[in-house]
Amino acid sequence: MPDLILNKVHDEQRQGEAIAPSADDHHIYHKKFYIESYGCQMNFSDSEIIASILQGEGFGATRNVEDADLIFLNTCSIREKAEQTVRKRLTEFRKIKKRHPSLLIGMLGCMAERLKTALLEEEKLVDIVVGPDAYRSLPALITEAGEGQKGVNVLLSREETYADIAPVRLNSNGITAFVSIMRGCNNMCSFCVVPFTRGRERSRDAFSIIAECRELAEAGYHEVTLLGQNVDSYYWRNPETSADVTFAALLDMVASIDPLLRVRFSTSHPKDITDEVLHTMARHHNICKYIHLPVQSGSNRILQLMNRTYTREWYLARVRKIKEILPGCGISSDLITGFCTETEEDHQQTLALMEESGYDFSYMFMYSERPGTLAAKRYIDDVPAEIKGRRLQEIVTLQNRLSLESNRRDLGNTYEVLIEGNSKRSDNHWMGRTSHSKVIVFPKNNKDIKAGDYVTVTVDDCTQGTLLGNITG
Ligand code: SAM
Ligand code: SF4
Repeated sequence: MPDLILNKVHDEQRQGEAIAPSADDHHIYHKKFYIESYGCQMNFSDSEIIASILQGEGFGATRNVEDADLIFLNTCSIREKAEQTVRKRLTEFRKIKKRHPSLLIGMLGCMAERLKTALLEEEKLVDIVVGPDAYRSLPALITEAGEGQKGVNVLLSREETYADIAPVRLNSNGITAFVSIMRGCNNMCSFCVVPFTRGRERSRDAFSIIAECRELAEAGYHEVTLLGQNVDSYYWRNPETSADVTFAALLDMVASIDPLLRVRFSTSHPKDITDEVLHTMARHHNICKYIHLPVQSGSNRILQLMNRTYTREWYLARVRKIKEILPGCGISSDLITGFCTETEEDHQQTLALMEESGYDFSYMFMYSERPGTLAAKRYIDDVPAEIKGRRLQEIVTLQNRLSLESNRRDLGNTYEVLIEGNSKRSDNHWMGRTSHSKVIVFPKNNKDIKAGDYVTVTVDDCTQGTLLGNITG
């Protein structure tokens, strides 16, 4: 039984994805780096910053690991399985190093702090270990490692936001891009390792965010997703004017750059999403009507043990408010089954809450104890794996029904769709996304349109995961 099931498969398919060389980069690089990324979208976004730093040092991206002078894994610690995958990959890379002794292998990201001693000194699987706040030190560490020393920097920072580093858009479709607006997390959800691996929350200079989004719009991008572990607590004070920028204000500024630039954001914490954010979304046509609002559990007792700081009643009131201010807004969630002491009754409350929220889709996980977290220190991971698995299957089955019902409600509706590219199954069909974040596939019909265009599509059929339609305007 996998420990993660995505009702929405998109991100799972990106795990371990290697960065492709950019088609627009005509530079000739004599040294090559290969990087695989794991985990959340923040990690994929960080890989674009790392690529920018490496290109500055004369390394070009390659997708062929055998060509590389540097191999990096940008790692995730969120669940145990992610760590196992990375270990397996490192062992495979070690074999390549036997054939190419000058090759340097590095572990970056969230696993760095926790596993540095084991992987660097004991198992000797890597030459370089760099934590998420120390990527600026990569050039020096690569030099040190090249001279036979161990290149390590896992220091976390209270300030680093990489605001001035222009990410290299690799693996990009040229239409949608991610823009990191903050780093770290101050919420101490008891199950979560992020506050330990990515450090304290800090928000990026609003002007640098606006500048990056404007450059993307000018380069022809049509959608930006503002990223952070908890975007609603974004807060930046202009040092010159002392003016405060909240997340609602930031959204307003980004949405005002260009009416054709769609704006998305992720992730929202239910305790922080304000009515002001919802009203800002309502005011701007180009802010997509979709909110990822992870609940984790529907039981107040479990929510308290998880230290989520809201109750199911508070959560459901937020969902009602979203639906009141933003009719038709898509809502998705993250759910964990089998958290410490979870009873059958707690589980039933999660199922009931899912039903009441009517999620369009969810990311669903079995609880995986992470060393160092509050839950690991305070509670016993006492729900047997078979029960976690059975409950996971039950929430997945329910979510599949909710997703299908949600898609069926869209039948006959007409949506503005941003075309992202060819459908995976057929070059005769486009794939795009609606504002409420549903994937929609429709025939090209030889119309004079291209990826990146907006088209009007009427939904005439659906599966659980996809809307199907035809261009009607
Ligand atoms: N900051 C986001 C929030 O609070 O909603 C989520 C960040 S986390 C990278 C993504 C998801 O991973 C969480 O919402 C949670 O469902 C899941 N997760 C985190 N720690 C976990 C653990 N120890 N076991 C299972 N799932 C976990
Ligand atoms: Fe982890 Fe909670 Fe922070 Fe999300 S809000 S990153 S789940 S501690």
